[in-house]
Amino acid sequence: MRIVLLGPPGAGKGTQASRISDTYQIPHISTGDIFRANMKNETPLGLKAKEYMNNGQLVPDSLVIDMVSDRLQQEDVKKADYGYLLDGFPRTVAQAESLDEINKNNDGGLNFVINLEVPFDILIDRISGRRICPVCQATYHISNNKPKLDGICDLDGAKLFQREDDQEETVKNRIKVYQDQTEPLIDYYKDSGILVNINGLQHMDDVFTDIKKILDGAN
Ligand SMILES: [Zn+2]
Repeated sequence: MRIVLLGPPGAGKGTQASRISDTYQIPHISTGDIFRANMKNETPLGLKAKEYMNNGQLVPDSLVIDMVSDRLQQEDVKKADYGYLLDGFPRTVAQAESLDEINKNNDGGLNFVINLEVPFDILIDRISGRRICPVCQATYHISNNKPKLDGICDLDGAKLFQREDDQEETVKNRIKVYQDQTEPLIDYYKDSGILVNINGLQHMDDVFTDIKKILDGAN
């Protein structure tokens, strides 16, 4: 099974990705992991990427696509009958077209694009309300998951803080970028008839039940 997982920051993509990967025995492939692996192993692609980054430049699309293409040739993907769950790729229609090309060369097209939908005001509240303990990394939320004492970790009494990435203005910006980038992509997959919208507002167990229904229906 070949799946792309889409969803804005804060939609719970990570949780669903690992559940899908465990249940269906397909590798969870995120662009972040591919990048780190290539850099760490100093592959030719990783070295090229490093060059761009050292010069303060964005890594070009073509290089990202080459890394994904290379990753989709690896043993774990083959073992799963050319199966994978992609997370963080594609981000643009051009990348989606390249992925179609890669799939064609590997004799297997995408089965599903799962799109986790959560209204933006709720995402902003979810993320900007997060507070973290600097000592034990426990996560709280100012309204849904409060510590016993305001601003203090229940476990070790440390003072909680808000990550810079989680500040409201930053979150709004991240979501806006996601929205601008992804909307054309969602249209692209809607046209190919493989897009499935899932209500990401539900409890994470119910989100997974909905995803499972879709994936099991395919067998
Ligand atoms: Zn703590």
